[in-house]
Amino acid sequence: MTIGITALGSGSRGNAFVIHSPDASILIDAGFSRKDLLVRMAAVGVIPGQIKALLLTHEHEDHVRGCRLFCNQFDIPAYMTSRTMDYLEKKETLSSRVLVFAPGEFFEVAGFKILPFAVQHDAIDPVGFVISKNGRSIALATDLGAVNGLTRQRLYDCDILVLESNYDQEMLKNSQRQLHLKRRIMGRNGHLNNLDTLNSLPELLTERTSALFLVHVSSECNTYELVRELARHKLHEMRRQDIFMQVVEQSVPVPTYWLETAGSLEI
Ligand SMILES: [Zn+2]
Ligand SMILES: [Zn+2]
Repeated sequence: MTIGITALGSGSRGNAFVIHSPDASILIDAGFSRKDLLVRMAAVGVIPGQIKALLLTHEHEDHVRGCRLFCNQFDIPAYMTSRTMDYLEKKETLSSRVLVFAPGEFFEVAGFKILPFAVQHDAIDPVGFVISKNGRSIALATDLGAVNGLTRQRLYDCDILVLESNYDQEMLKNSQRQLHLKRRIMGRNGHLNNLDTLNSLPELLTERTSALFLVHVSSECNTYELVRELARHKLHEMRRQDIFMQVVEQSVPVPTYWLETAGSLEI
């Protein structure tokens, strides 16, 4: 028994990931329109009818865009914190079945054990997730300004790590963006830059880690190739070229990555 992940796309214009076990799947964020989600799923062979629930990290549009229509079409519940729910309710973008979780408290969805944890980001109640099943785990943090103690603890020692690598510091400084926006992005409640992301890896990756997905790459202040190069270099320096590394792009869904079953019994 194993688990897998399909990155449907990631970046400031939309984020969505599907987590799979052999018998069920769950969607993490629905940052694309319902139609776009379906097109992306079809492109990589994900069957929308197998998705049992949506879990939201936070209320930003690039994470919730398709929430209402997708959940209503497939009649699945959307899980979120109560403060995120209040916000979406006011904006009238809530789907009809909503369930609430609290950061720091385990809950179960479709056989997956979920631990949401608070992250530092300029949203109402942003979280990352540790999702586990049969002793295998996927840790995910897509929008965060800093890898603080709690984040480090939660992202440590997972089989698959999904982590933001948003911007290159020089490219952001030299960009046309307004100063207040630059400050916001660079702040502890903004987004993670490439170096902070990669420098955190030695503290997060362990022997059991077999895949690394770098996500939410800025289209203006970063390039996919730069992130790939820096990550390759870092993994080489750590002597961890065995780790499957994927930089997730905005417009191209990535075919499902399944954890190998070999070795799972040793854990
Ligand atoms: Zn955000
Ligand atoms: Zn985002």
